[in-house]
Amino acid sequence: MIIGCHVNFTNEQLLGSTKQALSYGANAFMFYTGAPQNTIRKNLDSVLTEEAKTLMKENGILLENVICHAPYIINLANNIDIEKWQFSINFLKQELERCKALGIFYIVVHPGSAVSLDRDVALKNIIDALNSIIKEDGPMILLETMAGKGSECGCTLEEIKSILDGVSSKNIGVCIDTCHLNDAGYDIKDFDLFLEKIDTLIGLERVHCVHLNDSKNPLGSHKDRHENLGLGTIGFDTLYKVATNEKLKDVPKILETPYIEKEYPPYKQEIDSLKSGIFKPNLIEEVKEYYKKFL
Ligand code: FE
Ligand code: FE
Ligand code: ZN
Repeated sequence: MIIGCHVNFTNEQLLGSTKQALSYGANAFMFYTGAPQNTIRKNLDSVLTEEAKTLMKENGILLENVICHAPYIINLANNIDIEKWQFSINFLKQELERCKALGIFYIVVHPGSAVSLDRDVALKNIIDALNSIIKEDGPMILLETMAGKGSECGCTLEEIKSILDGVSSKNIGVCIDTCHLNDAGYDIKDFDLFLEKIDTLIGLERVHCVHLNDSKNPLGSHKDRHENLGLGTIGFDTLYKVATNEKLKDVPKILETPYIEKEYPPYKQEIDSLKSGIFKPNLIEEVKEYYKKFL
């Protein structure tokens, strides 16, 4: 099972991320190159990058299972403020360069929000932006399936498909997020049926990352609030089916579940749970107990 979680990049850059992932028993991970809510980025330290790659190799973490996530404030969909739109495009170009320097294969991007624009116009803006950003030889952009909160684009497979169809390069793929799918109205309890749907419409080979999250809200709520595995409306059985699905066995699954009491990362315990297939109804207590030992 290729399983990991969101980790920090701020401490020792990629080396810090790798150490953190290993402490959770992960063999994959995802990071933002800086704070997800801003675009301030430090220069990359090539020594730390090399040390990180060595540590990954020693521990069986493959670079194709290490995912970057673009900051969520960039918006490719809305060009009413043309300077802001251009800033998002330029930032993403730089982010691709950073990924390339790190040796990363994939970067997850939210398609963007239409705000006051018609959806058709917003989708066209996303396509135009991507056509100017994507390079054939660079890392691959993965469009994330969204919950449909506010005016988010990419909350249906049809919208994702129309973006992919409009982009001239084939160097673009998809990241599916289980919380977002649920909140967008896709019932993934019969996950094989959902995979058939995505295979017919988009092609399963274009899915290169799965965000594995439970949801705090019911099917179709368009809310986007992640929950810990098994404690939400999707439930452990369904999420375990996603994690162990044979058709996605080579695709990294990344947990973006919330910290317990905003302080304790649940990832070691959640990864244990997925590896063993045993749901932890007392996850919150177990995580708190585990971290108390270090205090
Ligand atoms: Fe995301
Ligand atoms: Fe996600
Ligand atoms: Zn989300």
